[in-house]
Amino acid sequence: MSRLAGLRCLHCGTRAPAWPAPPACPACRSPEFAANLVCEYEDHGLDTEGFRRLAAGRRAADRPGGPAPADPSGVWRFAPLLPDVAAPVTLGEGDTPLTPLRRLGSEIGLPHLWLKDESQNPTWSFKDRLCSVAVSVAAAHGAPGVVAASTGNHGASTAAYAARAGLPCAIFATPTAPATIRTLMQAYGAMVVIVPTTEDRWRMVGAVVELWGWFPTTNTILPPAGSTPYGLEGYKTIAYEIAAALEWSAPDVMVIPVSNGDGLIGIWRGFQEMLALGVIDRTPVLVAAEPYPAYADALLDPPHRLRTVPRSESAAFNVGTGAPTYQGLLALRESEGSAIVVDDAATLAFQRRLAATEGIYAEASSVISVAAAARLAAGGQIAPGARVVCLSTSSGLKDPGVTAASLPQVPVIEPDLGALGRALAETYGFTASRC
Ligand SMILES: [Zn+2]
Repeated sequence: MSRLAGLRCLHCGTRAPAWPAPPACPACRSPEFAANLVCEYEDHGLDTEGFRRLAAGRRAADRPGGPAPADPSGVWRFAPLLPDVAAPVTLGEGDTPLTPLRRLGSEIGLPHLWLKDESQNPTWSFKDRLCSVAVSVAAAHGAPGVVAASTGNHGASTAAYAARAGLPCAIFATPTAPATIRTLMQAYGAMVVIVPTTEDRWRMVGAVVELWGWFPTTNTILPPAGSTPYGLEGYKTIAYEIAAALEWSAPDVMVIPVSNGDGLIGIWRGFQEMLALGVIDRTPVLVAAEPYPAYADALLDPPHRLRTVPRSESAAFNVGTGAPTYQGLLALRESEGSAIVVDDAATLAFQRRLAATEGIYAEASSVISVAAAARLAAGGQIAPGARVVCLSTSSGLKDPGVTAASLPQVPVIEPDLGALGRALAETYGFTASRC
């Protein structure tokens, strides 16, 4: 297992000790700018085949010397490329399906389209990869508690992994947090508190970190830098699993819903590591999908300048930051990618379409990636022959109310065929015909 050697600033390269991670690089931080740090390791000793063996796993019966525990699965099968911990805090996260979207893909002009369906994680979102690694590191260092700022998936996942680790947990949310999410977080035993604004959440988390010594799984500062560097490592495994599923190749384009850019930088680091190991021969173009032009506008500016855009309420409440992060912009720039703005109407239309044509009910904040891919295909910015992977970060069941608002009222009828025919025609536009 590799040892975490330290942390390094993504912007200026300044190095910091491996623990504890500061909220941003102290060397280049200013009132207008904050860059995250990332993990650096001592040599992990892996080569191309060694990496592929990790992905494939090894049956206990194949081990030399007789029976032994089976190799770890999911995120932790890649333990040599993650922060070293003696006892991972795990609920079986990772190993999610890469599902081909043949019907929807052909409809939108992308016959080679896949969905990385992260709703099949323990708390139904990709945040479980981040929280498993982050809380494992926190527990290994004896953190007295875990804290997060979240109105959604990040909070639910943090609460679950804190519970798994036996640590107290506090979550600061905003008034817009859906009731389902609040229930989920409280069910996992977290102390959920509502504060007025997104910025207030971060200030409160920062205070709990400073005064109580608790470990934050989310961003804690303004302007935002991103989540804890240890947690970002968990997202590398999304890239590993995609490359393994595509027979050790990268897609041409990967579309990712964006907020603080944790997913963008984590997945980008995963692809970069595989390129360096010779596991893949090129990296994908990354595209950010967002409801406001935070990243789209910032990409037009010099790399060191961050800016904010106004926000409004959005169905894609788990994404939709007004303040892009340096780490997210860096991943987009290095991959020669872009950012696509999708409005609520288009996102919700694709939520229904994905569910009704492919059987996958994804959260609005997730399906925004599919809507963005469709827009790029329609505009000729993705070639029809391109292999495209959209990241679906969570399940539609996290916020079913936003879907229900755009669906017809369920008809109540007398139990006879005449009434059924009229109801199906009026409500669903369906006319039955005998075969
Ligand atoms: Zn720096």
